[in-house]
Amino acid sequence: MRKPIIAGNWKMHKTLGEAESFYSDVQGRIPDPAKVETVICAPFPFLYRLVQLSEGMAPSVGAQNMHEEESGAFTGEVSPVQLKDLGVRYVIIGHSERREYFNETDDSVNRKLKSALGHGLTPIVCVGETLGEREEGRTEAKVSGQVKAAYAEISPSEAAGTVVAYEPIWAIGTGKTATAEEAGDVCRSIRETLSELYGGEIAEKIRIQYGGSVKPDNIGELLAQPDIDGALVGGASLEPESFLRLAEVA
Ligand code: 13P
Repeated sequence: MRKPIIAGNWKMHKTLGEAESFYSDVQGRIPDPAKVETVICAPFPFLYRLVQLSEGMAPSVGAQNMHEEESGAFTGEVSPVQLKDLGVRYVIIGHSERREYFNETDDSVNRKLKSALGHGLTPIVCVGETLGEREEGRTEAKVSGQVKAAYAEISPSEAAGTVVAYEPIWAIGTGKTATAEEAGDVCRSIRETLSELYGGEIAEKIRIQYGGSVKPDNIGELLAQPDIDGALVGGASLEPESFLRLAEVA
């Protein structure tokens, strides 16, 4: 049985004070971590403080991106060694906003995935199609290609501990959600691709999240799909009560 994982992606929102107050509001109220894993992926400047506040309890702290190198002359970047040193446990890799606005490619996603795994971070690997690709019937080909490229040269034992987030780009921040069936179908196809790469046993271990306008009132039907094991949530993760409701449904 795969444990559901609800991850908030705060993107470029909040001040430090707002982040601290979110943490103090949710702490001690998150459902049993043995039943649901919860993560907040916060902006870099808040990570150290949030790890301190979380004291190893839920929700865990994640980053929204990282550079693949351990250190070096990469102005403005943050390395996996630095994240690990702070106590960060998760990292989002290849979010569509990174691919679109910061020129991330399937190759750089693959390098970051290798690096995150090499440093003991749990990666949340994002894939998803544009509206045009969906309308042309290319959703599964696009997503399967992204998964294959991301996982190139990743071993089965490493792959088993990763999380994939299926986020259709047209559903992000738009209020448009894929229907639960549409989302479930793509997540099943992702598991089939993982099964081609690693065999059924490993593919059954990898958790697949859906992301794109997830809210407390639609998460239930999404999670009812057999291949959807959680959610990667933007807007609805910003308010403590809404994040708590998402975690409770899971
Ligand atoms: P929204 O939940 O705001 O649509 O954002 C989804 C997302 O991009 C999470 O990574």
